Amino acid sequence: MKNQIYLRGLLVTAFLGGCLIASAQKKYSKSFARKQKEAVAEQVQASHKQTQVMVDKVFSFAELGFHETESSKYLTGILEDAGFEIEYGISNIPTAWWAKWSQGEGPVIALGSDVDCIPKASQYPGVAYHKPMVEGAPGHGEGHNSGIPLNITAALAVQERMKAEGIGGTLVVWPGIAEEQLGSKAWYVRDGVFEDVDMCIFTHVSSNLSVSWGQARGTGLISLEYSFDGESAHSAGAPWRGRSALDAAELMNIGWNYKREHLHPLKRSHSIFTDAGDQPNVVPSKASIWYYLRDVTYEGIMDMYEDANNIASGAALMTDTKMTSRVLGAAWPRHFNKVIAETMDKNIQQVGLPEWSEADQKLARAVQKQVSSRDTSGLAMKLTGLLPPVERPVSGGSDDIGDVSWTVPTVTMRFPSNIPGLQGHHWSNAIAMATPIAHKGATAGAKVVAMTVLDFLLQPELLVQANDYFENVQKKETEYKPMISENDPPPVYLNTDIMDEFRPQLEAFYFDETKYDTYLEQLGVEYPTIRED
Ligand SMILES: [Zn+2]
Repeated sequence: MKNQIYLRGLLVTAFLGGCLIASAQKKYSKSFARKQKEAVAEQVQASHKQTQVMVDKVFSFAELGFHETESSKYLTGILEDAGFEIEYGISNIPTAWWAKWSQGEGPVIALGSDVDCIPKASQYPGVAYHKPMVEGAPGHGEGHNSGIPLNITAALAVQERMKAEGIGGTLVVWPGIAEEQLGSKAWYVRDGVFEDVDMCIFTHVSSNLSVSWGQARGTGLISLEYSFDGESAHSAGAPWRGRSALDAAELMNIGWNYKREHLHPLKRSHSIFTDAGDQPNVVPSKASIWYYLRDVTYEGIMDMYEDANNIASGAALMTDTKMTSRVLGAAWPRHFNKVIAETMDKNIQQVGLPEWSEADQKLARAVQKQVSSRDTSGLAMKLTGLLPPVERPVSGGSDDIGDVSWTVPTVTMRFPSNIPGLQGHHWSNAIAMATPIAHKGATAGAKVVAMTVLDFLLQPELLVQANDYFENVQKKETEYKPMISENDPPPVYLNTDIMDEFRPQLEAFYFDETKYDTYLEQLGVEYPTIRED
């Protein structure tokens, strides 16, 4: 129902957009647009220091999903100072927010990126071997500390142009909370957060500057926890009186592992035990196992979900325990907008890759060597170019931006703040993320985002074309159906124990930009630090 109302809204928007074309084109000539884009890129370059501070600061907070408290407080503070109106606690997620700034009539353009980090990825930046800041603590071993700083840099630069020239439109900056848990964006969509948005530019850290359209590489997923309820007993004194929930969770695991032999290779699944009992001499009355079930289509994901439910029921039958399940996360396979991607790619070609220093390259090559990467050539020197839709689906990771991409015309811009050829979700992926590599990559990305936003603010026909692709090509054969129900709450309790344990130790490492120029300086890291073998 919500989708139907929304769809009508979009059609009306497209119609009105069509009517606006004539007058808007008169107002904004090509040369005016070109000048504005040059000016916005210069403004982004001039903001490089602020971008660096934001990237370093969020890196230092090292917050896991649903606990991005300091990161959110800090980032919204900057936006608030710039006149953005902030709504907190979006979708009942305490660390989620929606920052909006409007001037006159024009499209609503939302800039999103993630902000959470990775368990056990604590790592000194700029050091080319494993050196945790706090042993066992979370760290930015994916690079989610760079995306929102990039988006804020772009948004503030565009805002300045809009103010100076009276350009109409609305800018939104929003965070993907708990992306590693696929824990927020499907909820935002379910709760109608994107209902007034015309288009979305999402940014994600990478090792090159690129954008794609059509079906993206990778999968969608559903994240589920199965819990079993049995009966405890003395494990030695009266084991026959116990019914082990752990036996059920283990049998489910075995069942799924047999199932895996018969899964299509595009499907991927992984699990961890979230509760495996307390101690050996007490028959575990409670146990839980948590799965990510991935496939390249929604239907494929739902088939896996059904299979998992059957296996869980079977495990409960075998052990005379009770089974319950809950959805902890969801992500649709992604589909990106052709018109936005093509518009953005022209800006990517114009901005190009950052100029890397010898120190940047030295660090990159040393890290590649350290993790035995097949890529030993250092940082990217050549743009990958506009990536067309995959000819045949390619399996891999997921991102809940998929749900947004089926709600409004969306692209993900990947920007070069990290080192190519690393394994991901690993301490090595944190090494570059508070160094000049990350800073320069974010500035390059911010230029592209700012220029693309101006393209859409100044040429209304682009948004009409983007909507046309969205409605008449992308959605022609696929209907978006949420994987989460109206009642599934976001699992905001996740990661609480880990953050309770490590936050006090991490606080000692928060970046103080009033005392130090860079985080490397605060940490006393010589750049780059490379171990001589
Ligand atoms: Zn990510």
